[in-house]
Amino acid sequence: MGGEPGTPLIVGSGIAGLYVALRARELGLRPTIVTKARLEESNTRYAQGGIAAAVGAGDRPALHFEDTVAAGDGLVDRAAARILTREAPARIADLVRYGVPFDTVDGQISLGREGAHSRSRILHAGGDATGFSIEEALRRSAIDAGIEAREERVLRALRPGSAAGPRAVVSRPDGRDLEELAPGPVVLATGGAGSLYRQSTNPAVATGDGIAIAFRAGVLVSDMEFLQFHPTVFAREGAPRFLITEALRGEGAILRNQAGDRFLNARRGEAELAARDVVARAIQREIRRSGHPSVYLDATGIPRTRLFARFPSVCRFLQAYGLDPSKEWIPVAPVAHYMIGGVTTDLEGRSSLPGLYAAGEVAATGVHGANRLASNSLLEGLVFGERVARQLARPVAGAPTVPARLLVLAPQRGAGRRGSPGQLALVREQLWENVGIVRNATGLRSAIRALRGVARSVAPTNGDDLPGAVANAALTASLMATAALCRTESRGAHFREDWPRPRAVWRKHIGLRLAGRAGSSARAVR
Ligand SMILES: Cc1cc2nc3c(=O)[nH]c(=O)nc-3n(C[C@H](O)[C@H](O)[C@H](O)COP(=O)(O)OP(=O)(O)OC[C@H]3O[C@@H](n4cnc5c(N)ncnc54)[C@H](O)[C@@H]3O)c2cc1C
Repeated sequence: MGGEPGTPLIVGSGIAGLYVALRARELGLRPTIVTKARLEESNTRYAQGGIAAAVGAGDRPALHFEDTVAAGDGLVDRAAARILTREAPARIADLVRYGVPFDTVDGQISLGREGAHSRSRILHAGGDATGFSIEEALRRSAIDAGIEAREERVLRALRPGSAAGPRAVVSRPDGRDLEELAPGPVVLATGGAGSLYRQSTNPAVATGDGIAIAFRAGVLVSDMEFLQFHPTVFAREGAPRFLITEALRGEGAILRNQAGDRFLNARRGEAELAARDVVARAIQREIRRSGHPSVYLDATGIPRTRLFARFPSVCRFLQAYGLDPSKEWIPVAPVAHYMIGGVTTDLEGRSSLPGLYAAGEVAATGVHGANRLASNSLLEGLVFGERVARQLARPVAGAPTVPARLLVLAPQRGAGRRGSPGQLALVREQLWENVGIVRNATGLRSAIRALRGVARSVAPTNGDDLPGAVANAALTASLMATAALCRTESRGAHFREDWPRPRAVWRKHIGLRLAGRAGSSARAVR
């Protein structure tokens, strides 16, 4: 299976992994997909709102670009955002070609509106089942194209290989059937890290393994302090943290506190469709002030037929919990949602390690800056996935042009033995309590101490031990806490109550690389 030139190994089967595999196949390669659980299990499957692209009348990629840059709060890589927004319409055409049934009205693509977008430009499918529709169409296309897909196979490590790429080590989730593959191109499409938080919208597979594995192999990772919280997630004791899409606010739903008052403060730039970090912090402030565990989303002003036609999944879910959103307010609170940082890539999806590529949520392409514009993430997986597929088919000579970043000494390596569910719970608790919506130096230091303790307790007993799930979780979490401690300012999704304003000196990215490898540094280099 996979690994050698011409037979790239693709790790993950969300939008990024499936799309890269399909395009690589069309370009004459024989890719193999390995994926941790069933083929369809991914963040992609749960995406609701949709995918952004300037395809509507009166919209242009330049406007989409401006909104993306504004949301990113001074840190968007403009070249990457230009590519994202210009290439979006062509990638949407690819999805249509693979059979994604985007919703239409009178024969025209129907476009929704989401926070911080200046135009209605969100394509959706099945109302609010966009991710499901995309995942199903790509999965079916991959099967039809005869792409080899190995389910319940986990990437465990990347070992030194050849100029073509690293050697990937894979096994079953329980460690059986360990294989070290021949050196060759490897594409990390392992998704985000949201489920490392106690409260998150993400499925269990989103544990940031790809970041930990790449980091241990000496690969540069960046923007790890930027984790986006989704402001409106169903908040009822005992119920799953089901996302109530922002598109509902786009259709006119409003936020109220328990007393029924609208609490968003326009003087602070707060509004229902303000950027997610702004709305999430405003809700958290209200929750703390009132002592009530949630605020409420009031969708009762949207006509019932429209509400149920446009948001069938949300309405079905709420009805299962005995709540009719056309008559009652929906209890909501912010939870962890989207990992902005990850494996640093250049504009072609190349990481700092030759032959290792990253696409989708695991990658840090720079398009999101300090804060992701809603519905740009499915798009990022496609646009940079296409570039990765082209690289796989016709690699450009020379070292990857990973952008110059600020490098700091990385935290310890962390690896080894299997940990316990209790240790995983500790990691999730530390991130939730100390690396959350509002952070400070004391909490971040205490998180780093606790996470290092976990990493030490699962350290290898001998040189051959491969890191397990707990070691990966503790390492990814400690990279997040370390970068968050380092960034002594507030910007985008990263808010420090001890440094509540942006600072010009921090208008740059934080990169982390394993200490002791070429290119790492014991001092901050600016
Ligand atoms: C509830 C929810 C709603 C969302 N709504 C939207 C939206 O409306 N619009 C939007 O643009 N974005 C949305 N997002 C974000 C978006 O869904 C994700 O950013 C995107 O789907 C990520 O795609 P991906 O292919 O990078 O990763 P994923 O879809 O998460 O796929 C990752 C894959 O990697 C596999 N994997 C992980 N680790 C390993 C390993 N070690 N070995 C082997 N396989 C591994 C997983 O099993 C999975 O198959 C939403 C996310 C959630 C959770």
